[in-house]
Amino acid sequence: MGIESNLGIVTTCLDKIVNWARKNSLWPMTFGLACCALEMMVTVSARHDIARFGAEVYRGSPRQADLLIVPGTLTKKMLPMVLRLYEQMPEPKWVIAYGNCACTGGVFRTYSVVQGIDLYIPVDVYMAGCPPKPESLLTAIIKLREKIDKESLKDRR
Ligand code: SF4
Repeated sequence: MGIESNLGIVTTCLDKIVNWARKNSLWPMTFGLACCALEMMVTVSARHDIARFGAEVYRGSPRQADLLIVPGTLTKKMLPMVLRLYEQMPEPKWVIAYGNCACTGGVFRTYSVVQGIDLYIPVDVYMAGCPPKPESLLTAIIKLREKIDKESLKDRR
């Protein structure tokens, strides 16, 4: 067996361990923009229990968060602040566009509203709805966990 295949085995094992840890300890940022944020807040209640997925520890500082949930209407006036928060998050970090407004601008086809957060930052999971139910955020978290599971350390920046 050559060095390259040995390295491949080590990387694969390491990926599995790291991805397992990352997907089970997502730390979302405490951050809301509009009505969708109310649905997001409900996910920490006992009924929805986001703690099942290890994502219940909403962090007050972007430096301690690895998941940015963009919940609601993003106005162009708010955009610089959101970009600043995103840039302050350390790698690896992930983004969920939560609700029609965050995905595409939603019903606000107007000059003052950003027509999709993915015009400015990379989005990992899109969740449509106006507003999406709290269960939809849990679905988005499950999708994100599946995505993290397929990541490899060698592909990371
Ligand atoms: S998608 Fe609907 S519920 Fe969510 S922020 Fe936009 S208007 Fe409000």
